[in-house]
Amino acid sequence: MPRTYPKRCGKCGQKAMILAAAPYATTIEHDGRAYEVKIANLTAPRCGNCQAISIDDDADRQISAAFRRAAGLLAPEEIRHGREKLGLTQKQFANLLGVGEATISRWETGAQIQQRALDRFLRVSFASPAAVALLQSDFQATAPGV
Ligand SMILES: [Zn+2]
Repeated sequence: MPRTYPKRCGKCGQKAMILAAAPYATTIEHDGRAYEVKIANLTAPRCGNCQAISIDDDADRQISAAFRRAAGLLAPEEIRHGREKLGLTQKQFANLLGVGEATISRWETGAQIQQRALDRFLRVSFASPAAVALLQSDFQATAPGV
């Protein structure tokens, strides 16, 4: 899909926005901690007149991916692959972990970044069939009628 972005700069108003790659650095707060995120080549719309940068959805995904690497959190595709290896639907996996189905969906599309405690919980679930069996038996015992 071709990438679309406003041609007019939001800062100076000139019709001079072009897609360009350049170094980018920002600070992202997560779980009460600040992470320095540096990207050697962030592809984003930039103004040829005033150099203002516009963070569109695609640039936002690049920044989120760099943040996950900096923070050591599972990537969206790793979460999806891990769930699929367990043979669970998003709904079944949500029940297993005790989170909402929409949360699983947002983790897997990258729309939401999981908290560190949940990231560890995910890693334990993916690495240990015994942990999954324990969670499954606990869920059945504590959720009557489901
Ligand atoms: Zn500008």
